[in-house]
Amino acid sequence: MTHVEYLIVGHGIAGATLAAELRGRGRAVLVLDAPQPDSASRVAAGLMNPVAGKRFALAWRAAELLPAANAFYRGLEQRFGQRFLVELPIIKLFSSIAEQNTVLARSADRPWLDFVPEPDALLPPVPGVRQPFGGICIQGGGYVLVERVLDALAAEGQQNGWLQHETFDWQQLVPAPEGGLIYAGRVHARHVVCCEGAAAAHNPYFHWLPLTPNQGEVLDVECNELGTDYVLNKGAYAVPLGGGQLRVGATYRWPPFATGITPEARQELSQRLQDMTDRPFRVTGQRAGVRPAVRDRKPLLGTHPAAPGVHIFNGFGSKGVMLAPRLAQLMADWLEHGQPVWPEVHIQRYQALYRVPPAPAGVVPVDSRS
Ligand SMILES: Cc1cc2nc3c(=O)[nH]c(=O)nc-3n(C[C@H](O)[C@H](O)[C@H](O)COP(=O)(O)OP(=O)(O)OC[C@H]3O[C@@H](n4cnc5c(N)ncnc54)[C@H](O)[C@@H]3O)c2cc1C
Repeated sequence: MTHVEYLIVGHGIAGATLAAELRGRGRAVLVLDAPQPDSASRVAAGLMNPVAGKRFALAWRAAELLPAANAFYRGLEQRFGQRFLVELPIIKLFSSIAEQNTVLARSADRPWLDFVPEPDALLPPVPGVRQPFGGICIQGGGYVLVERVLDALAAEGQQNGWLQHETFDWQQLVPAPEGGLIYAGRVHARHVVCCEGAAAAHNPYFHWLPLTPNQGEVLDVECNELGTDYVLNKGAYAVPLGGGQLRVGATYRWPPFATGITPEARQELSQRLQDMTDRPFRVTGQRAGVRPAVRDRKPLLGTHPAAPGVHIFNGFGSKGVMLAPRLAQLMADWLEHGQPVWPEVHIQRYQALYRVPPAPAGVVPVDSRS
């Protein structure tokens, strides 16, 4: 029997950040992850954008989340000797005069100005970029090479025995007579954490939470005539990966959606890129993934109401790359010390939806935190 304190299910950006946080605190962790080349985290362009949406508002808690994310990815860079985080300005191109006015109305907001220091400055012409209504330059963001991060961590985990590639079967989780939980008769864990991404919509413990899969696609594009020192954003983003390669995304589709890539998404994203540049480009690849989206667009952190050893760290929607590192710290504080997590992300806010006992027959409440 393998004994661990934490059994983490899933190694996308959620499971990876939580495992890293708990391991950094000296905890015994085992991650079980079903290999999935097109998981949301692997498909994501990894963009971290502090100013998003039609109203150009500062992203939720961006001033706290971004520094934590930067520190996390920079720390991994030092450990692995690889580049993971590319900090770049994001050129947000306006679609109309009305958008210009929306931004000007924001110019007095202090934390916002930290990310858009010159909202009323004219955007200088950028070669190859269409900017009929101008735009703003957003600082403090950039992108993360998420697939590279996950590969580095998973390789380390496999080598050191804390990560295994396999599908976790929730029906094989039972309470241990001595406390904690036993998985498949071979792993004893004090805590089990669901980091399954969109697959958690079918999780027997957490299917009552309002987590909805949202399909998205990105294009890999070759375009040698755009600069590599900015991200473009107008309805879509174009992230320069170097060597004339861009990743362009993303689409959003609610169920029912097609599995895999679609010609519609290719058309939509190509059109959006054409709206941003007058330079020729060639689509070289296309990928699709499924985001774990939540009704109120906030993640889902907490402990199952009737099974105190079973937890969830999920619901990162379209912003997992920026959110997960700081929230992994909060989740670890909750698991280790019972420190309350922020109410906006605590699953307590959906307690009213929990009616039917979701645990499979035979699984009784187990308080393994004692
Ligand atoms: C097209 C697209 C573009 C995106 N672009 C961005 C972006 O630029 N910036 C950004 O911040 N976010 C972006 N996102 C969103 C981001 O990808 C998600 O917020 C994030 O990846 C969610 O991470 P996760 O770990 O919760 O889920 P996932 O990445 O889906 O990981 C879940 C993991 O759990 C595994 N798993 C599931 N069930 C089991 C089981 N039973 N047993 C074992 N393993 C299991 C899966 O195989 C997978 O490895 C994008 C998403 C898409 C689809």
